[in-house]
Amino acid sequence: MTPAVRCEAAHPDDRTPCEGPPAVTVRDLLGSEVTGCVHHAARMYASLEGPRVYPLPGHDGAALTVYRCAQTIRPFCWLEEGAQ
Ligand SMILES: [Zn+2]
Repeated sequence: MTPAVRCEAAHPDDRTPCEGPPAVTVRDLLGSEVTGCVHHAARMYASLEGPRVYPLPGHDGAALTVYRCAQTIRPFCWLEEGAQ
């Protein structure tokens, strides 16, 4: 089953759907930026080296939520979840 359109932060191998609208921008060490929902942004944040996360306008608390979620997520956690 192909998931519906997802945010930019969703890894192609990560089959989970978005949770909520795009709420944050995640930037990596090289300055690449992607905009994503809290769920996928947290997973991406946990998988990057030296990431930064910024809230989108109207989502002031989202960056902190992503940061806190990412502390509990292993890098590339979707690799061991198997098919869903
Ligand atoms: Zn998403």
